[in-house]
Amino acid sequence: MDIDGKGDSVDELKGLRITSLDDDDDDDDEDIADNDDDEDDEEEEEEEEAVILGFVEKPEHNWSLLRQQFPSKAGGIPAWLDPDNLPSGMSCVCDICGQPLQFLLQVYAPLVEKDSTFHRTLFVFMCLSMKCLLRDQHEQWKRHPDKQSRSVKVFRCQLPRANPYYSSKPSEGNVTDKPLTPGAPLCNWCGTWKGDKFCSSCKVARYCSQKHQVMHWRSGHKLECQQLSLSPQSSDSNACYGGIAQIKSQKVASKSLWPEYEIQNEHESEYDTEMSGDEGLANNSLIPRNRVDDTMKSLMDNFEGDGDKKSWASFQERIAKAPEQVLRYCRSAGSKPLWPILGGRPSNADIPLCNYCGGRLCFEFQILPQLLYYFGVKNDADSLDWATIAVYTCEASCEGVDYKQEFAWVQLSTSIN
Ligand SMILES: [Zn+2]
Ligand SMILES: [Zn+2]
Ligand SMILES: [Zn+2]
Ligand SMILES: [Zn+2]
Repeated sequence: MDIDGKGDSVDELKGLRITSLDDDDDDDDEDIADNDDDEDDEEEEEEEEAVILGFVEKPEHNWSLLRQQFPSKAGGIPAWLDPDNLPSGMSCVCDICGQPLQFLLQVYAPLVEKDSTFHRTLFVFMCLSMKCLLRDQHEQWKRHPDKQSRSVKVFRCQLPRANPYYSSKPSEGNVTDKPLTPGAPLCNWCGTWKGDKFCSSCKVARYCSQKHQVMHWRSGHKLECQQLSLSPQSSDSNACYGGIAQIKSQKVASKSLWPEYEIQNEHESEYDTEMSGDEGLANNSLIPRNRVDDTMKSLMDNFEGDGDKKSWASFQERIAKAPEQVLRYCRSAGSKPLWPILGGRPSNADIPLCNYCGGRLCFEFQILPQLLYYFGVKNDADSLDWATIAVYTCEASCEGVDYKQEFAWVQLSTSIN
């Protein structure tokens, strides 16, 4: 097993630490170009913030995305930061259809200003149903005290340097890194949520929900379960451990999780110099460029009116610097999402206050629809689709245990409100 020279990639993973931003601030001239397409209702002083772009890549090693590496990742299963106190109950399901939510991505974004955010990860989940996302659209406009029923949820988890789960020493960034605790057992179907319900026959398989138990049963656990329970020494602890090992080895039975990627970061300013960067971009490109362009065109077909075309043009101009980006990260006072279209943007009053400390939420990152193409989501009428998902988090990144639910604003390309 070769474990040398991995230091670099791990450093890149840590790149979301906000400290490193100061280095490359000498690209101001480029920003002025965006100013000629001002929208009247867009209080645009256009003083652009340094944005970090996220790109997906196949993980380099099978351990690269384990939780002790503090990864930013998309698809597959979450690498829970606090492995014990996972979100539970209604937090894990779509408020609209009641199905357990699917893991979309997580961003490792520690904040240096205090110890309690030494480790800090944001997790995004969503329902697979476009119908639910369309309903979610109306819900997100509801203001306090109305309860919003969401199909997209974001959780924030943070840990101080000294914590029960990980060594306080810097990780080696290789296969020898181990977490200090095994973490809570997870659902054998989705591998995502806590498996606190057992199969009543074998008492080995664990599930987050009855829905996932039923799906596992239909897709093969029925047989496996019989073998486990008919096994002659099934009361014997050895047989029981055998069963556990068997089930653990195929930890995630669901075949409908999205493909797993590592998210690598680059400063957007790296792409500013000129657009000749074809070679540079091609390097980490997983899909041909024309595929990305098709995506963008099909998005554009849905637009109505000049305002949207104009807004789209400036969005497109900015994205074109690095068309494969799936994520734009910028957590600083006054930073705003780059909205693809005019319709369906929140006003300040549409952004709620922190559920926990009552303080303000601020924009932290946005997810672009390119991700759906890396996930192989089809372009059908009822397939999942969005123009952008903007994530807002507690400005104070307030303290406290467990996973705190933050706020996502979804802009759809089809809803012109
Ligand atoms: Zn749903
Ligand atoms: Zn499950
Ligand atoms: Zn069973
Ligand atoms: Zn707060």
